[in-house]
This record gives sequence, C-alpha cells and structure tokens, in this order.
Amino acid sequence: MNYREVTTTGEYVARLETGADWREEIETFAADVGAAAGWFSAIGSVEDAEIWFYDQDDKEYQSVAFDEPLEVAACVGNVSHLDDELFAHTHAVLSRASGQALAGHINAGTVFAGELYFRAFEQPLDRTRDETTELDLWL
Ligand code: ZN
Repeated sequence: MNYREVTTTGEYVARLETGADWREEIETFAADVGAAAGWFSAIGSVEDAEIWFYDQDDKEYQSVAFDEPLEVAACVGNVSHLDDELFAHTHAVLSRASGQALAGHINAGTVFAGELYFRAFEQPLDRTRDETTELDLWL
C-alpha cells in the first residue's frame, strides 16, 4: 500500500457550465484555484456521456457512449497529475428517466447542470504507468 498525509488548502463549491465537458470543467476549476491535487464529489445532469470500463484481462478501456439526457446521481473522483497535466479521475452513477442506472469511469459528458464540491490538497499526486495493472496509478 502507498499512502501519505495530505493538507487541505481550501474547500470550494462551483457550478459547472452548461454545454461544457463535465471532466474538463473539473480540471479547469482545479487549475483556476491552483490545486496541486484534490478530491471531489458532484451531482447534476448531462446531455450525453462516454463511459469507460477497464477490461482487467485485456488491460484496455472499453468505451460506451450514451447520447441521451442522464442524471448524474453521484459523481466522485480526484484530481492528480498525469503527463504533467491536471487529470480529473471521474466516476459516476448516471440514471435514465426510467430510473435505470448506468455507471463507470466518465471520460466525457456534456454538462446540462452540475454542482461540484472540491477539496484542494497542498501535496501533488502524480500518476505513472503501473506494470501489473497497466493503469496510470499514483506513485
Ligand atoms: Zn476510473
């Protein structure tokens, strides 16, 4: 196990911009407040979504796209550095009008409305390729 203590430099709430990309909005926000890293939760809705699922045998992401309005019933993730850029690792449970749930790693989604809670950390988190999982994990 790899762990460290982190120091909070600030707690924020933000409204995500309609029409923007859900994940990019979080990354832009983190850069705007000068966060080295952070942890977040968010709720709202999107006009569409691209969800990734990591195939543990093939060690590749499978992508599935939904071109329909979805509620972001619960979104949680963190911001770290990947290839020298801030990256929002974003997971969510999305729901359809019927209440049916979809869930996974959110690569993209067009914001309809979004409310973000963000806790910024003083210590950076850096990702690097892990040989076993072939994922970009924290150092
Ligand atoms: Zn993920």
